Amino acid sequence: MRQKTENIYLCQVNETLSCGACCGLYNLPDPSFHVLTRILARRAALFADLPRDMESILEFGEKEKGLMGRLPMAEFHHCPYLGLIGPEKNRVGCLLHPLGDGNRGVDYRGLSHYGSMTCQMYFCPTHGRIPSYLKILLCNIIEDWHVFGLIVPETDLLAAIDKQIRARVSIININIEKTLERKNRRLWQNMLTLKCDWPYREADRPWANYFFNDVLYAKPSVDYGKTGQTSSRYDKLFRELHSVFNSPAALTRAETFMDRLFDDLAGTIGV
Ligand code: SF4
Ligand code: SF4
Repeated sequence: MRQKTENIYLCQVNETLSCGACCGLYNLPDPSFHVLTRILARRAALFADLPRDMESILEFGEKEKGLMGRLPMAEFHHCPYLGLIGPEKNRVGCLLHPLGDGNRGVDYRGLSHYGSMTCQMYFCPTHGRIPSYLKILLCNIIEDWHVFGLIVPETDLLAAIDKQIRARVSIININIEKTLERKNRRLWQNMLTLKCDWPYREADRPWANYFFNDVLYAKPSVDYGKTGQTSSRYDKLFRELHSVFNSPAALTRAETFMDRLFDDLAGTIGV
């Protein structure tokens, strides 16, 4: 899908792990795993039999757009050429990529909304801003493409996680194999899947994260009005998780949860 610019490439990781978040994957009315899987599988099956000519490909895209319904973020393009790829069709990817089944090395991405150059060159901020240890953990801890693509483009959330870890332990000489030991995996899983499981999240928050420079859909500040506090030591994290707290006790519970989880995670850092 995209070319490698550094040693940890997050767009396509392995046979089951990949991401399509910047192609608007989650910007659909129902971006749940089951619905997305159904849509992406159907596209892949239809595209497999599609003649590789401009008219057919553009018509395919228009038909798919007509099926999408109202996008939660109107300005965030959902690319109709996202589909399931790979021998087992068990990860998300670009149906127009030159390595895609049936494309015979031809790059059809020029027919997409962004065009071939952008599709090839774009890398989300996580590639450049997030330290390697966290990217390695993401690639080794997350088990499916749906969860992976939800967390990977959350650069500010990942940076806030990194900040909390560094406040507790030095990661200069991190031994990543030790950190990835079996007994530690569950703790990291809890942290890196928090976006999906966070009990204090705003009920109707969008799943897609709009991380482009024009900041059209910034996450709102946390409203501490019902907590008796004006902020929290985890304010940045809570904001990135779209948190809402309806009582002082709810905020205390959330902070205590974070205290414990980060203290435990700091203990997993191998040196
Ligand atoms: S959001 Fe980032 S990791 Fe995901 S496909 Fe785009 S550039 Fe790759
Ligand atoms: S054509 Fe571009 S935007 Fe569409 S899925 Fe492929 S890489 Fe993403």
